[in-house]
Parts: sequence; structure tokens; C-alpha cells
Amino acid sequence: MKVILVSGGVLSGLGKGITASSIGCVLRARGVKVTAMKIDPYLNFDAGTLNPFEHGEVFVLDDGGEADLDLGNYERFLDAHLTSDHVMTTGKVYGSVIEKEREGHFLGKTVQIIPHITNEIKSMISNVGIKSGVEVVIVELGGTVGDIESMPFLEAARQMHSEMGDQNVIFVHTTLVPALGALREQKTKPTQHSVRELRSIGIQPDVIVARSERPLDDGARRKIALFCDVPLEAVISAPDAKSIYQVPIFLEEQGLTDYLLARMGMGNPKNGLTEWKGFLNKVMEPKHKVKILLVGKYMDQRDSYMSHYEALTHAGAELDTCVDFLRVEAEDIQKEESKCMLKEADGILIPGGFGSRGVEGKIEAVRYARENKVPFLGVCLGFQLATVEFARDVLQMHDANSTEFDPHTSHPVIDLLPEQKNVTKMGGSMRLGAQQVLIEKGSKAEELYHGLDIMERHRHRYEVNPHYIDRLQEKGLKYTGRSPDGKKMEILELDGHPFFVGSQFHPEFKSRPQRPAPMHFGLVRAALAFSRQRK
Ligand code: GLN
Repeated sequence: MKVILVSGGVLSGLGKGITASSIGCVLRARGVKVTAMKIDPYLNFDAGTLNPFEHGEVFVLDDGGEADLDLGNYERFLDAHLTSDHVMTTGKVYGSVIEKEREGHFLGKTVQIIPHITNEIKSMISNVGIKSGVEVVIVELGGTVGDIESMPFLEAARQMHSEMGDQNVIFVHTTLVPALGALREQKTKPTQHSVRELRSIGIQPDVIVARSERPLDDGARRKIALFCDVPLEAVISAPDAKSIYQVPIFLEEQGLTDYLLARMGMGNPKNGLTEWKGFLNKVMEPKHKVKILLVGKYMDQRDSYMSHYEALTHAGAELDTCVDFLRVEAEDIQKEESKCMLKEADGILIPGGFGSRGVEGKIEAVRYARENKVPFLGVCLGFQLATVEFARDVLQMHDANSTEFDPHTSHPVIDLLPEQKNVTKMGGSMRLGAQQVLIEKGSKAEELYHGLDIMERHRHRYEVNPHYIDRLQEKGLKYTGRSPDGKKMEILELDGHPFFVGSQFHPEFKSRPQRPAPMHFGLVRAALAFSRQRK
């Protein structure tokens, strides 16, 4: 097994995740068996309890792991299904070592960061390699080199390098090259400093990926090679891209794949990115255009709904359509500007969410979509609120609500799942991960999924209250997907509306560049028809 460690210098938010994913993508295109994992040096056990405003969306894995959004990038770029083992946090590492200490694994010993914590880190990385049967594990280290939190992880990586050797552990360091002054001269000093920082802990990078606005010029590239002591061909320029899906092409064209394969002594298998390029062409030069409005809570943080944006992009590519994203903060739905956006939208998507802020605004948006026959997709909370809106407006249950937001409503059309009633710990205790859903024959869902038996990922505590289902269905809100025991409502469709669909599960997490999530595909296709009919 070989390890490629992707670290970051200078500042955070450089797109290390996209770099790591893209390296995986180009290696995979050469037939290398590769997987990726993320190290997040915070103390939380997993990402499930983090705020999307600070950390972006919580990505859900098949096994119910609640992970950093970079896991979504890995799955999309590597076309993989990853597990919770592919996420390591300080909390997880220390938790495991302390548990072992209590069990008596280290009797008589003083348990220390070196070697006990570093050994645990190394064995978690090796386990991922062994369990997934790959040749190369790409390990992305969150945070910035120099942070106190990342120290034990870098030390573990340094040890791996000295134990496994030069060919088997490769260091890729991602940095920022800013352009300053009237001449927009590219400055390499921050890169030099962050490499010095890495070296001070015993790590010499093999590859520098330099993020910059425009492509790295020759002078800057030479300077980095000289000062950071890496070969010229291992200084890779990663300029701002119009689409993240261009990045693997940038890396491939600069010879990074060849360089890495040679460094790892892996020969040089050919073949490559033909299919990826086909997909990219459709993303870059689409014939049509639709506007999809997202009504959510953290709208100035694009990362909060990353998988939805990606799923819509995948769907757009399949339909030769550019998806323009309009964003409305649910709390501001009454503002003039928001109303204009509702009118402009060819389709409306309400994503998942927690807590009462913005709920009434989302309900307004559902009503707008239902009454004006605008294509609508509601996911998780969006699905629940579509049910609430219908109960209020069509069933005349004026105070209908979810008990998450109004515990005393006289019509609790959305209520806590029975198995959640005794849950007291909040971490990792929702209904999580891949669950089977059975679809009704002849439904829109069947047409979208081309099948009746699907697995989709979940993350919720509340559900449609079974008590109200007959009344909702009688008036036209049909539940066409259910859990195998028939008790949990999973998909809804509204009679007499061109596309009004919702799912309790999160279809966005399984969307792939050439296999868009069926629900998002349906939304973009309906939005396209809607926009044509408007013209
Ligand atoms: N808050 C809702 C629930 O827990 C919806 C969750 C979600 O949208 N992910 O059921």
C-alpha cells in the first residue's frame, strides 16, 4: 500500500479537498486502485454535530457516517462508496486510545501522544488501505500546517515515510500564490514559508500544488522549485477554475499523473480521462439554461448545500443544460428581492434542515411552487414542509406543523419517529445512512429511478405522521415510496402538478458526474419544460 498525503499551507479554504479528489481521479483513470480519506483535526467525534455555517454541509455515507463535505468530493471524483473509516478526527483517535487504555491494552505503560496516538493514526490509515484493497490511499489533512491540532497527524505521516520509504509515502503540499501590486506579480514567499514549516517537522514535500488566480507564470514556478527543493515538473499550477471538474484535467496536462506514477514506481499505464472530458464538455458548453432557486438557511455559504449544487450540475450535464443557481434566505422570503427570484425560478428546491428559523419562509415557497405549478423538489425537511403546507392549505388544518417546531400543534402531521422517542444523546443517533425504499408501480418515482426497489441515504428524526396519511392522499398528495414495512413515508408526489416531488431521504449524496441523482434530474428536466413553456 502507498500513501499520498495532501497537506495545506498558508491558509485554509484552498481547495485541498478538490486537489486530493482530483489526484484520485487521475490515478483511477490510469487503472490504479485508489481511495481517499480525510483527517479533520478537531475534537468532535464526527461532523454530525457541526454547524453547516462554519463547516459546510454534513455529508452522509452509506453506513450512516456523518462526515465532512470532502467525503462527497471523494465519492464524486472517485465514483466510490466510502465508509466512516475514511474519516479520522482527533476525537476519534483519542477516543479509541483512551478506550484501549481502559481495557488494559497498555498495562504498566505511560500512554503518550508519541507513540500511542501516532500509532493509532498510522493503523487507522493502514486499515483503510487493507479493508478497501487499494494500491494507493490518498490522505487529506484538514487545517493548515503549523496548527497545533495537526501536529500529531503530521508526525504520524513523517513516521510512515521513514518506515515505508520514499516510493511509498508521497507528500503533496497545497499552497497559495497571491498576485499583488499593479503588475499582479505572483508572490512565492508564503509558499516558501509554509514549506519551511513542513520541513521543520521533518517533512520534505514531493509535489507543490500552487493555487492562484491565473496560471502560475514561469518565473514563479522556477522560484518555487528552487526554494522548496522540488523538481520543476512537480510544481503544479492550479488556477481558479470555472468548474471543479476541470481540476483533474489541469493536473493531468501538467504531467502530475506521470510524475506520481514514476515516483511510486508504478509503471505508466495509459488510458485516461476520455469519459471525464466528455462529462466536462457538457458542463462547460451547455445548450440550454434553467434557473433553480434554493430556499435555505445558510445561503451566503455555498458549501452548506454543496451536494445539491453538484447533483444539479450532474443533472444539467445530462440534459445539456446549465443550471443557474438562485439563492433565497428562507427568513427573507417576504422581501421584494426574494419575491422576484421566486417569479424568475424555473424550479424550486428546498433542502434539508434543522431548527425553526426560516421554516415559515420555506412553507411560503412550497405554496408558491404548488399554486403556480413551478417544478418543486423537497428534500428531507423540504419533504416534511411540503406535507405541512398541504395539510394547512388543502386540508384546512391551519396550525398543522412538525412537532420539531410546534410541540403543541393540534395537527402534528410531522412527528418524531417512534424509535427516536427515547433517544437522549444527540451525536450519531438520528435515522442515518442507506435504507431501503420501495416504490409504487406507475409512479413518477418509478419513472425517475427506473425501478421499484432503491437504497438511499437518510438523516432525520421526524417523519410523516401515519395518522394523517389517508387524509393527505385523498386530497392528492400521494406517498409513492415507503420503507419496506410500509410504515415510513419516503417519497411524495402531488396529483395534477407537472413536478411536485419530495423525498424523506437525501438523493443528492449519491449523485455522480455521469449518473445524476434521479430526483435532481427530474427537477431540472421539469424546469427545462417549464422555462420553454413560459417563453
Ligand atoms: N429536522 C428534520 C428531521 O430531523 C429534517 C432533517 C433533515 O432535513 N435532514 O427529521
